[in-house]
Amino acid sequence: MLKGKVNSEVTDVLYGANLFALIKKDGGIRPIAVGSTYRRLAAKSCCKAVSDKLSAYFQPIQLGFGSRCGCEATVHALRSFISKKEGEVVLKVDVRNAFNSVDRGALLTQVREKTPELYNFVWQCYSTRSKLLFKNNLLFSSVGCQQGDPLGPALFSLAIHPVLEAMTSWKTACPNADLPIIRHSQHQWDEPLCRLVRDNLIETSTSTTERARLLAAASWESGSWLQALPSKNLGTLLSTNTLRFSLCLRLGVACVAPHQCQCGTSVSRFGLHGLSCSRSVGRLSRHASLNDILRRALVTAGAPAVLEPPGLARDDGKRPDGMTLVPWKMGRPLVWDATCVDTLAASHLPGTSNRAGAAANSAEHLKRRKYAAIDSSFMFEPFGVETLGPWGSGAHSIFKELAKRLVDATGDKKAGTYLAQRIGIAVQRGNAASLLGTLPQGTDLEPIFYL
Ligand SMILES: [Zn+2]
Repeated sequence: MLKGKVNSEVTDVLYGANLFALIKKDGGIRPIAVGSTYRRLAAKSCCKAVSDKLSAYFQPIQLGFGSRCGCEATVHALRSFISKKEGEVVLKVDVRNAFNSVDRGALLTQVREKTPELYNFVWQCYSTRSKLLFKNNLLFSSVGCQQGDPLGPALFSLAIHPVLEAMTSWKTACPNADLPIIRHSQHQWDEPLCRLVRDNLIETSTSTTERARLLAAASWESGSWLQALPSKNLGTLLSTNTLRFSLCLRLGVACVAPHQCQCGTSVSRFGLHGLSCSRSVGRLSRHASLNDILRRALVTAGAPAVLEPPGLARDDGKRPDGMTLVPWKMGRPLVWDATCVDTLAASHLPGTSNRAGAAANSAEHLKRRKYAAIDSSFMFEPFGVETLGPWGSGAHSIFKELAKRLVDATGDKKAGTYLAQRIGIAVQRGNAASLLGTLPQGTDLEPIFYL
């Protein structure tokens, strides 16, 4: 029997049971299954063989099998918990039909992993549905441990132990998080753990640059380009060099051999100088791309727009980047000005190492001041983004409204997501162009890259 080699002709009888129906006090029926004595004897021997091993495995989470005086231990622990007033609530839960409802697949998996010496026997008992005989009626049971099986408590405890262990370690890892409302949502279980890792990384960062990079990378918009489907036709395919630089910047790893920028400044192996170099060549193309993306999105959303509208000069005589030709909000056309500033520039680090998007916000603030005198029949909004991805509040505000209208106009729920991806890609392309711009003309790129 222990080898699981009982002839299948007799397993129905040997591993099935006779049912009796007892009347409960409240009038209900209590079914009692009585299995064969041989099976019970074999199961008893199994219990004895694995009792110590399982007791060590279950404690201290479970005391239902293999623990001497488990009940007493539970009562004393509970009494001490209450008397020390360490908690506010004691919850006693009674699971209805617990043994009968445990999944046999989970049960067999755990037996194979934790007590392989019992597997053959338990497999023969539980791999097929058991036959229960009540008078002349045959009932089939394919879920849970069989009533009266001496191995029942061990099997039940084994089946639920991984869940209890996972819950306990999750609670230990994030003591302040509430249990997920939707228990089958992996996202809800993962989220507090990811947040802890992120907070820990930020707290233990060794420099303001590192801290600013981590804060920026944690903002949702900074990772949008990573979600874009790489497609040549959609314009979302990044070149190898752009992808290399973008990943290195996001991860904060070295990407190029140290060299001298065309402006004369030394460029370290992290290549950051390129992002804020006064001769940066990526800046112009990035600025043009951002405006083009905004204009196209506005057109798709039913708000035709033009770039550099004439007749709308700001205080210094320069034109804004774009304007809608129809009212945007409260009867006023939208006038925007896009800007991209470097998250890791020395002048921005005090702000960006404190809060993601601080550089974009201060750049937007400057823009607002420049447009303070704009005609009140227009609505001005700056669109500030940073090299490492975060946006300013103006950019968020334009995006929110634009994404909503894009979804309405196209019927595609992801239209806003695609817009964020296009903006992210434009920023990454600009970064890569800026970094490449620090290299001397005609340089063979391959020996320069670390990746
Ligand atoms: Zn330079």
